[in-house]
Amino acid sequence: MDYYSFSSVFSEVIVLKKNILLIHTGGTISMSEDTSGAVKPGTNNPLTQGTDILSSLADLVVEEPFNLPSPHITPREMLELKYILEDYAKKGNIDGAVITHGTDTLEETAYFLDLTCQASFPVVVTGAMRSSNEIGSDGLYNLISSIRVASSPDAKGKGVLVVLNDEIHTAVNVTKTHTSNISTFQSPQYGPIGIVTKRGVLFHHTPTKHENYPLQDISKRVSLIKAHAGMDSSLLKAVLGLKVDGVVIEALGQGNLPPAALEGVQEFIKNNIPVVIVSRSFAGIVQDVYGYEGGGKHLKELGVIFSNGLNGQKARIKLLVALAKTEKMAEIEEMFMF
Ligand code: ASP
Repeated sequence: MDYYSFSSVFSEVIVLKKNILLIHTGGTISMSEDTSGAVKPGTNNPLTQGTDILSSLADLVVEEPFNLPSPHITPREMLELKYILEDYAKKGNIDGAVITHGTDTLEETAYFLDLTCQASFPVVVTGAMRSSNEIGSDGLYNLISSIRVASSPDAKGKGVLVVLNDEIHTAVNVTKTHTSNISTFQSPQYGPIGIVTKRGVLFHHTPTKHENYPLQDISKRVSLIKAHAGMDSSLLKAVLGLKVDGVVIEALGQGNLPPAALEGVQEFIKNNIPVVIVSRSFAGIVQDVYGYEGGGKHLKELGVIFSNGLNGQKARIKLLVALAKTEKMAEIEEMFMF
């Protein structure tokens, strides 16, 4: 029997509180607007006050390892979150976890945890587009929805989930699509896998696959470069000079690059540094379709790795995780075929 969950009967609401780990990390959801109109963190996180409504939903265990705007989040904080989740999973008395996070890099943290976290309970990441004291503030509402999703047994086994604006998205597909609109989080091409309604949490799709890699540390350097008309090799060569361990290129269309950029790509491959191609297009996957100079077929022949539908920022996270696991190009390529 589960709190606010229902299977086929919408009206059947059974109340049984779950043990939910609530981890606050900062972001707009933890900020307020001051009299000058600046949105910023204060000394007290507004989410840790007035928690009566939250504790009526679940028995909460609250952690606040840091309070950062999400542009300040690095893989180090992502790793810290993974360890917190896994520590609680080992203790064995938690039914689900909710992480509050700034929306700017939320998808990266969610995907990192999706790829690496070994906790078996549902993990939901949420945030807000309007801070705690703004009219139409969406923070508390999204937090309530997220606790309800994390409490649902149907949330188990679907990977890390992102819940905002009544929608449930997978970490692998979701992306921030709008700078300020509260419906910013979308899963282009796939859509959400569930919805949150007044009466319950309804999953209408189940992901068909999920990848997860054990990881102890993350220390490699991966750059992300966006291709454009007239791109040459200068930026690629400069990045190579920075001694990076890998590069992700947001290529054109189905995975093509201007011929003048190829010299730079080849330099990477000659140095056994992986070059992963994604598309700068909003939806779709990259493939070795075009046979002209710089076309996908040509890039594949050169040894470029094609990623399977990830956006640039997530392919970068995946390459960091891959490089923490192996330096063998064939194994890295295999991980991107998933
Ligand atoms: N700039 C904020 C952040 O990512 C935006 C937000 O949280 O919505 O921390």
